Amino acid sequence: MTTTGLSYVPNNPNSPWQIYLQQVDRVTPHLGHLARWVETLKRCKRVLAVDIPINRDDGTVAHFEGFRAQHNLSRGPGKGGVRFHPDVTIDEVMALSAWMTVKNAAVNLPYGGAKGGIRVDPKTLTRPELERLTRRYTSEIGLIIGPDKDIPAPDVNTNDQIMAWMMDTYSMNVGATATGVVTGKPIALGGSLGRREATGRGVYIAARETAYAMGLDIKGARVVVQGFGNVGGIAARLFKAAGAIVVGIQDVSGAVVNEAGINVDAALEFVAQGNKLTEYIGVTPITEDEFWALKSDIFIPAALENQLTATRAKSISTRLVVEGANGPTTPQADDILHDRGITVVPDVIANAGGVTVSYFEWVQDFSSFFWTEAEINDRLERIMVEALKAVVHTADKHKVSLRTAAFIIACTRVLAARELRGLYP
Ligand code: GLU
Repeated sequence: MTTTGLSYVPNNPNSPWQIYLQQVDRVTPHLGHLARWVETLKRCKRVLAVDIPINRDDGTVAHFEGFRAQHNLSRGPGKGGVRFHPDVTIDEVMALSAWMTVKNAAVNLPYGGAKGGIRVDPKTLTRPELERLTRRYTSEIGLIIGPDKDIPAPDVNTNDQIMAWMMDTYSMNVGATATGVVTGKPIALGGSLGRREATGRGVYIAARETAYAMGLDIKGARVVVQGFGNVGGIAARLFKAAGAIVVGIQDVSGAVVNEAGINVDAALEFVAQGNKLTEYIGVTPITEDEFWALKSDIFIPAALENQLTATRAKSISTRLVVEGANGPTTPQADDILHDRGITVVPDVIANAGGVTVSYFEWVQDFSSFFWTEAEINDRLERIMVEALKAVVHTADKHKVSLRTAAFIIACTRVLAARELRGLYP
């Protein structure tokens, strides 16, 4: 269960980092004079790989690999989540940190991009082991994180409890309570109202606005969601509340269907009690192939990278893809969807709600002044709607996809900051 060595797979054309590099190549012709700085975007400013030894409950010692990548800090401190997953590699963390740079700039947050991860299946650890893992990882990356340096947050398989342990460990090491070192904390420790739902809410807002522009009514729309966690689950709930019919869901336990519409709230509660989605009484389990063959108006990939491959893009029956996950669509699939007239709202806009409310949390922590949930949701709504409008406008102007348009806006902001700051020394 432990791994040794550095999990770096160089030059794999389908690796997340290589996919990110292809996305940068696509934006470069649209960057004007700033294109001379584009090499900045093609590397990470700083990548830290750490060994994390922990005492297992049985008295043995286990070692895990951890990473924190800071892709770009031109516009502010690093910002991005930490994921605990057995497939984490340095390559993946680098790509995810770069997508954070683009995301933060696309919605105009005053942050650079960063990401962290531990190569571990957290389900194989007891709670005390998970706490020791989190604390040792935080200590190891403590060299480069901090409220004004780099601010981690939840991502795949990490939550508010893990953020509380990270905040406490960092605070113990610096000798002062530093709530602003992580976001996505419990409310009692300086967390923000609305943060837990923010990514899913942002996905829903992005879908609603784009559907409206396409003349697609959310009420009665057929929605299929891949992922039923913090992003897919919340988005599905909001779609259902708006009158959409959530016909299919896939999570780690498998895929399910109900052509009449899944009772999302009941299914969420069933799963929250520790049950498998596939065993929920109101659905029929289906195979992975059947899941990808479901007919929908809106498809929400809200799981991991590389899910919407070229093969799946050729056959998927939908009108609108809204990326809840980071990097779920390959560049080849992007082209196929584009040619088929299927609109894709890219991750760097669609799932930016989470980091946007993380920014609100960080601002609230700094000012020790906390906002109401209504204020937070209202500000989130405004930022998402404005960012989306700008992306649609740029896509029309340059005749490019929404993804390339988001990259044009973001990379222009990052490289303009880079140029103004100049090269040191
Ligand atoms: N992990 C989330 C993302 O991928 C949120 C990051 C944050 O809040 O810093 O956008």
